[in-house]
Amino acid sequence: MQVVLLGPPGVGKGTQGRRLASDRGWALISTGDMLRDAIAKRTSLGLEAGKLMDQGFLVPDPVMIGLVRERTLERDAETGFVLDGFPRTVAQAQALDAILAERARPLDVVVALTAPDQELVRRLSARWECPVCRRVYNAISAPSKDGRHCDDHPETLLTQRADDTEETVKRRLDVYRAQTAPLAEHYRGQGRLKEVRGTGALDEVYGALSAAVATAVR
Ligand code: AMP
Repeated sequence: MQVVLLGPPGVGKGTQGRRLASDRGWALISTGDMLRDAIAKRTSLGLEAGKLMDQGFLVPDPVMIGLVRERTLERDAETGFVLDGFPRTVAQAQALDAILAERARPLDVVVALTAPDQELVRRLSARWECPVCRRVYNAISAPSKDGRHCDDHPETLLTQRADDTEETVKRRLDVYRAQTAPLAEHYRGQGRLKEVRGTGALDEVYGALSAAVATAVR
C-alpha cells in the first residue's frame, strides 16, 4: 500500500504516520527527517536545505522529487510506505503520480489530517523530539516519562526543532496554505482523498486514520 499523509505542520503526521507504518510493516518516509539527517551529517544537501528550513521555506521541488524517487525504491518500502511531508507542492504531487505510475504502484489513499491554526501553533511551541529516534513528544499533552529524556533512549535529552520558533511557525503555516493546501483538490479530483480530524486523543485520531486506510486496503 502507498499512503500519503497530508496536513499542516503540527497536525500529527509524524506521530500518527510512525504508528501506522509500524503496525502495518510499511516504511515511514518523512522528508523532513531525511533533510534533518542530511543537516546532521553536514552533507551538501543538508547545508543547502538547512538555510531554507530554518526560515520556514520549502526546499526546491527537483531536490525533493529526486530524494523521494530513490527512497521509495529501498527494500523496506517494497510492501508499502507512508509518506509524511511529501508531496508539498502540486509539482511534487504530479511527479509522485508519474513515479508510481512508472512502477505500476498507484497511490492507494491520501489522508488529510485537519486541525485549527490555534491548535497547531500551541502544539508546535510545545513540541520536543528525540534526536536519536525522532520520536515526538508534547510538553503539554504527551510528555515523556521524566519530561526531559526520550522514553526509548533514557540517556538522550529531548531537543526542540530549530524551525519551531514563533516566526518560522507562522511562515510554515503561510507556505502550507499557499503551496500545500491546494493538493487536497488534486487528490479529491482523483477520488483518493479522505479527511480525518487531527484533534482529540491520539488513540482516537489513530483509530479514524486506520479506518480511513482500511477502506482503501486492496
Ligand atoms: P517537516 O518535518 O515535514 O515539518 O519539514 C520540515 C521542513 O523541511 C519544511 O518546513 C521544509 O523546509 C522542508 N521540507 C520537508 N519536506 C519537504 C518537501 N516535500 N518539499 C519541500 N520542502 C520540504
